[in-house]
Amino acid sequence: MSNPPDYPYDALEFGETLEVAPGVHWVRMPLPFQLNHINLWLLEDGDGWTVIDTGFNTDEIRDYWRAIFGRLAGGKPIKRTIITHFHPDHLGLAGWFEAEYGAKMWMSYAEFLQAHLAWTQSVTHDVDGWMEFFVENGLDPAVSKRYKAERPDFGRGTTKIPVSVHRICDDDIIEIGGRDWRAITSGGHSAEHVSLYCESLNLLISGDQVLPRITTNVSVWYTEPDGDPLRHFIDSFDRFRPLPEDVLVLPSHDRPFRGLHDRLTGLVEHHDERLDAAAVHCETPRTAMDVLPILFRRELDDHQIAFAMGEALAHLNYLVTERRLHKYRNDAGHTVFQRIG
Ligand SMILES: [Zn+2]
Repeated sequence: MSNPPDYPYDALEFGETLEVAPGVHWVRMPLPFQLNHINLWLLEDGDGWTVIDTGFNTDEIRDYWRAIFGRLAGGKPIKRTIITHFHPDHLGLAGWFEAEYGAKMWMSYAEFLQAHLAWTQSVTHDVDGWMEFFVENGLDPAVSKRYKAERPDFGRGTTKIPVSVHRICDDDIIEIGGRDWRAITSGGHSAEHVSLYCESLNLLISGDQVLPRITTNVSVWYTEPDGDPLRHFIDSFDRFRPLPEDVLVLPSHDRPFRGLHDRLTGLVEHHDERLDAAAVHCETPRTAMDVLPILFRRELDDHQIAFAMGEALAHLNYLVTERRLHKYRNDAGHTVFQRIG
């Protein structure tokens, strides 16, 4: 069993900052979701500042940023934003930072492309294609109809995305404020998520890839129906295990914590349990929808069902790659999974 994380700090109020290491300021901002906050990082960077993740596009967050820069930045420019991945709570204000402060956007290339596809609601974010895929996987067509009527809009949380990017690749060393930060890219949660590790400060900005308490969303997307994102996610832990036991992890949600290794062990145990439960349930052919009550013991609203379907498929596809399940289309036109042997 793994130990609970060690949290050295209490939660911050929204719009407050706390210097958690020399030149590294923790910023906590509100989100208009059930997950009601995000952590962002403001780093002193020589003659200016670097912002790591920007927050969702709301007036409230922009006002908080202006207030923070008013009292902290000392008139120094915001030189760049570094975006861990394309989700709007992270990327949302990158365009605003560019327009308002001239800050250049740094990001991995797959995340940059994903962001633009999502922003135009094309290919990867076509709600019709998305719902059709879930209905094939057993979702009640009535739920998909309600969901489609809402047409969730990625653009809502994101200002116009910069058209130029400074590309971050795996293992790149990025100098911030005279210190080296190493980029660690990983899949599972998004295509090429960037975490940043600074050896001299013993800090890991983990983004959404490692969170202390809630489990990171890992979902199959309709554009990649045979995708195995859970494997990409769990495989990525090998990149984090060599980091020191006492590294201070700065995650995008919850609070900074120590106990990275225990957390990785706990996550593997958590997913193993869920994989075993799903495999047992697929003794007879099951759709992803059939597996939801096994993986999620609480009531799910329409929006949560859409997320949960993606997560259930991540577990089922993992079991297919492991050759514990096979997957086929049944006579009713549903994709079903059944245990092998
Ligand atoms: Zn995310």
